[in-house]
Amino acid sequence: MLKPIGKHIYYLDHQPDTDRPLLAAVVGEKHCLMIDSGNSPAHAELFQVELQNVTEKKIDIVALTHWHWDHTFGLQAIDAVSVAHDLTKARLKEYQSFAWDNEALDQRVRDGIEIEFCQEMIKKELPDRSNLHIQTPVITFDKSLEVDLGGISCRIEHIGGDHAEDSSVIYIPEEKMVFLGDCLSPDFYSGSWSYDSSKLEKVIEQVRSYNANWYATSHDHVETKAELFKYLDQLQQLSKIAEDYLSEQEMLTKFKEEVHRSPNEEEKELLDYFLQGNRKKEKQ
Ligand SMILES: [Zn+2]
Repeated sequence: MLKPIGKHIYYLDHQPDTDRPLLAAVVGEKHCLMIDSGNSPAHAELFQVELQNVTEKKIDIVALTHWHWDHTFGLQAIDAVSVAHDLTKARLKEYQSFAWDNEALDQRVRDGIEIEFCQEMIKKELPDRSNLHIQTPVITFDKSLEVDLGGISCRIEHIGGDHAEDSSVIYIPEEKMVFLGDCLSPDFYSGSWSYDSSKLEKVIEQVRSYNANWYATSHDHVETKAELFKYLDQLQQLSKIAEDYLSEQEMLTKFKEEVHRSPNEEEKELLDYFLQGNRKKEKQ
């Protein structure tokens, strides 16, 4: 079930039914680092069981890409030292102060603190949350952290962006691979899904800067450099089109002028995220 990349990396594909993100292990001579902890103890356990089929090593370090539940709720099921950005820890402390029964979760949706999509997925993945104990990371960093696993290393770097201000990426130079977490996704938590063009531009610039051949996005498939960069080009093109055009009609006209066709469904959706981002900026 785990797929290899190079000699040291194994990953478990994302599972959209309950919004399980991609999980991975980087296996060194001395240490074994897991990327994200899964969206439940069951998800974390599944990964560790599968890992035993490919290596005798056990996970002893877990790196979190950001605070969102689907990347962090599995932490209690992993006997390892956890590592994350300072802001991830702050957010997980906030999670710890929340009650996680249906009533409390529903109330947070009504209050605009949680979104319906996560509410639905949390209930589906974890129908019984009486034994859920949110963990906070043991080690935190501000800008970046180097982890030497023996013969292979991981550079965990803060990237930030719209989706989560604590977003971090994990670069494995020896295997030329980058784990992007959700850093290219829009903001889900401000009423409507949206992109802030300038924040996204900064994220894309950093993503492009790594010397890598493979890129993993948490809720998508592992991509080659050519595939990812094509998507980044598309995002930047749409961002540029949306930049000065506040109405939907104006954006569509501009798109047709530049691309000489109508946008497809995916492009329309992305343009809408930029439009929502522009509207948010207008309000500020
Ligand atoms: Zn996320």
